Amino acid sequence: MNDRSLRGNYANASLLVRGWTDRTMNGVTRNMIEPQSETGDPELLKRLCRQQQALIKVGSLWRRYEGALTNAAGVVTEAAALALDVGRAGIWTFDSLRSSLENLDLYQADMKRHLRGGRLAAKDYPIYFDALAREEILQVSDAPTAPHTRALFDSYLRPNAIGAMLVAPIHAGARLAGVLCLEHVGGKRHFHQDEINTAVHLASAFSAALEFQYHADERHKMQAHLRDQVALWSIFFEQNRDGISVLRTDGSVYRANKRFADMLGYTVDEAHQLHVWEWDSQFDRDTIVGMLQSVDFSGDHFDTRHQRKDGRVIDVEVTSNGAYYNGTKLIFCNHRDITERKRDQQEIHKLATTDTLTGIASRGEFSRILSEEIDRATRYGRPLALIMYDIDHFKRVNDTFGHHAGDEVLKTVVDLVNEHLRRVDTHGRWGGEEFMVLLPETSLAAALVIAERLCQAIGGQGFDPVGSVTASFGVTLLGQEDGFDVLVKRADEALYRAKNGGRNRVESAVGPATDSVRHNSGANR
Ligand code: GH3
Ligand code: MG
Ligand code: MG
Repeated sequence: MNDRSLRGNYANASLLVRGWTDRTMNGVTRNMIEPQSETGDPELLKRLCRQQQALIKVGSLWRRYEGALTNAAGVVTEAAALALDVGRAGIWTFDSLRSSLENLDLYQADMKRHLRGGRLAAKDYPIYFDALAREEILQVSDAPTAPHTRALFDSYLRPNAIGAMLVAPIHAGARLAGVLCLEHVGGKRHFHQDEINTAVHLASAFSAALEFQYHADERHKMQAHLRDQVALWSIFFEQNRDGISVLRTDGSVYRANKRFADMLGYTVDEAHQLHVWEWDSQFDRDTIVGMLQSVDFSGDHFDTRHQRKDGRVIDVEVTSNGAYYNGTKLIFCNHRDITERKRDQQEIHKLATTDTLTGIASRGEFSRILSEEIDRATRYGRPLALIMYDIDHFKRVNDTFGHHAGDEVLKTVVDLVNEHLRRVDTHGRWGGEEFMVLLPETSLAAALVIAERLCQAIGGQGFDPVGSVTASFGVTLLGQEDGFDVLVKRADEALYRAKNGGRNRVESAVGPATDSVRHNSGANR
């Protein structure tokens, strides 16, 4: 039956429709059929009315049965059984591999009941599945003998007394997802074109429901994903042990976490009102604006200082990087309070570089500075003098007055010497009661003057309860060819001569080119 003859049948049938619809159908249906006016076939008219009624039943099925596919399937199978006047109507869906069909709903018209859960395996009915896979509308007037369906005879057709079948495809997107299967209980039956069209419409109604379900599933998945992201973000942001700020390039705060606000002693709301220069005490406003504008996506890492609301300043390590969000550049910053770490580091550095008794440079630290100064003086051809001194007969001090009194003498001597030194000079404890003084930019003559003064200062000092204490001094000057060891050895030799020469005196030694010069303690008076 082609389109034209179908339209003709509708037209012929419509005269009798009016009386019939008035008795049996609701107003909507009647209005749809009413325009027709010619005489026609009453059987066709009944058929068309049934079909129309069924189609109205499944209107906006997808929306009404959102999230309840089996309910939607039940509505379609009932409507289909009514529309085509068949004993059984079922909706079957493929598994993902299309290796089986599972029954979602099967309506048995005579008992007015719905069944579900039957299964057909593709391997048992390959010809039937092949036909379905080609997405044909299968119209089988004599199912037990038709090539596509006769394999179903023993297991399915005969037990259910099925004589004819009409199968219409159900899609999800572009994919074949299942079939609407109309099963005529009884003998052979020919399905009219209008019935085939209606079956296709009913199957499409279920396709829409399936599609809607698919989108709803996607939406739920997306929502779950979003919830997960939000949860992760809030754990990261709010429970981070670092302060986190998100800044605009003008220095204002876009977002800040509680840890950041706590670190600065503000509430989160107060922190949101701040600008970077209100808490950063190391950089000025212009520098900060420059930094914010230049920070890129590879990020930046630096130490700075933040001033808290209560005025206290803390040391902070900042890691920042820029990123575009909603078309605006934002700077994401991690702020880690390193005040304690810095204090510990300073403490460790101090322990490693200073002598605990006297507070001057340890031997290691003095050696490091001496090496540096030798390099510098050699490179630029500058004078560099070294004084080595040792307290005379110090063993006697300890033996007579005790170790503690000895310690006090050492501290007093160091303080006395410190008073005579410049900021650029370095005073170090070489070992025991032996010390070094490094004098950059100092000639041998000037160093001798200083050594004499130190010698006199110590000799002239009264030490309680020890009385007077003296020290011997060796002075030397860095020569062009000298290295660390040579310089120290020569200072030691000069000191040795001062000891041998009677102590409480200054001796000097210079490189091979120059004669050594002897000075006693009174030489510079
Ligand atoms: P000289 O004039 O030849 O230098 O004689 P001296 O007794 O000073 O030299 P010696 O090397 O024989 O003795 C040095 C003494 O310094 C021995 C040691 O017990 C003492 N000494 C070294 N370090 C300390 C210290 O930290 N505290 C005290 N109280 N004594 C120290
Ligand atoms: Mg000594
Ligand atoms: Mg000594």
